[in-house]
Amino acid sequence: MKINTWSLFGGCLLICGTAQAQEKPIGFKDTPIIPGTTYHVHDGDRPQPRVVEAAGALIIKPPSDAIVLFDGTNLDAWKVKDGPAPWEVRDGVMVAKGKDITTKEEFGAIQLHFEWRLPADRKVNGQGGGNSGVFIMGLYEVQVLQSHNNKTYPDGQAASLYGQLPPLANATSPQGEWNSYDITFVPPVYADGKVQSPAKVTVIHNGVVVQNGESFHGVSGYRNLATYPATHPEKGPIKLQFHGDPIEYRNMWVRPLGQRDK
Ligand code: MG
Repeated sequence: MKINTWSLFGGCLLICGTAQAQEKPIGFKDTPIIPGTTYHVHDGDRPQPRVVEAAGALIIKPPSDAIVLFDGTNLDAWKVKDGPAPWEVRDGVMVAKGKDITTKEEFGAIQLHFEWRLPADRKVNGQGGGNSGVFIMGLYEVQVLQSHNNKTYPDGQAASLYGQLPPLANATSPQGEWNSYDITFVPPVYADGKVQSPAKVTVIHNGVVVQNGESFHGVSGYRNLATYPATHPEKGPIKLQFHGDPIEYRNMWVRPLGQRDK
């Protein structure tokens, strides 16, 4: 049978054109402008980070001095305010469920490693379907989002400093495959009740540097301008976000970063 390519093309024009016309704008334009930029908080027009195909998760076993936060067997290192962490542990992974959870132990400057993924059969759309996040000191979010072939506002994609700064690249693994984050974080320094030095972070996503010693503008939030509180704790827990989606985590460990031996 001879295929009528012109009718196929015409059909595509009709269907693809309609699909394009119905595509919703992403992000927000009614939010504050981020200082030092021309972009709104969660601005859909901020340039999308370029896609880098990475080899997948770096699986790094905990060094001898690491504090293991999850080794595949139990949630002993985690809690919620009023009791034990409600996340599920199965097949060596912890699955987000019910509530945000926090570490029992608190930390200041750290090196943090973990691996995460979203199951392949989960439907995602922008911020929906595959969203979680790691809040360092319980305050500063490095976004966890299934961002492979899933467009959203760039300051909310995987490895963004949520609501503040997109990553340098989108190195997210295909859905269903593991990602790794290796993060170093230094808390803000206050002097005379003022921020002398902001909180700083480096994020390596699947072996790709995506945040290179960047500063947080303040405590992470949604649709608002990040600011620093009047006073700041020296240490805080690591918080993992439950955003309604069954994000899986494994092999999570942390090393408090102290001073050099003298
Ligand atoms: Mg999040």
